[in-house]
Amino acid sequence: MGAGKTTKLLKTIEQARNENKEVLCLKHCIDTRYKTDEIVTHTGASVPATSVSVLDASLLNGSEECVFIDEAQFFSGLIEFVDLAVEKGKAVYVAGLDMDCFAKPFGEVLELSKKYPATFLTAKCISCEDPATHTMLIQEKTIGEDSVLVGGMDTFKPCCESCFRLPRTGTE
Ligand SMILES: [Zn+2]
Repeated sequence: MGAGKTTKLLKTIEQARNENKEVLCLKHCIDTRYKTDEIVTHTGASVPATSVSVLDASLLNGSEECVFIDEAQFFSGLIEFVDLAVEKGKAVYVAGLDMDCFAKPFGEVLELSKKYPATFLTAKCISCEDPATHTMLIQEKTIGEDSVLVGGMDTFKPCCESCFRLPRTGTE
């Protein structure tokens, strides 16, 4: 996180629109940090997006040539949906986190990145400036092992392997 993945996604969307391609932009409705009908970066750039809770196959019935999915880690059935979109001849761009703050795979993003070409963006560790490989929950907050926390830089921070600490859970 903090690596500029949404910024990169927005640039790709902008590029597709400049080429007069029809675009479908999807985001998960769990992510209400900013506006619900837009994909917004930390820096405030935005494009209109459809906010959904599930990646329903009917979303692919439109004439859009390019499909963009932001915060893809929140979607189950991600791989199936991407496969279907590709079958329908659509170009698909997915931005998401591969690992959660427990250093476990986050949704289907990591699995998807093994199936299709993927670019890994890396932020700098907030403590030592080495390349960040992990997303750490800011330690003042505690969460349960099963909970999904949606947050930005105020809740999570990028950090490297050696600075990474697992979050405290409620039981400790
Ligand atoms: Zn570090």
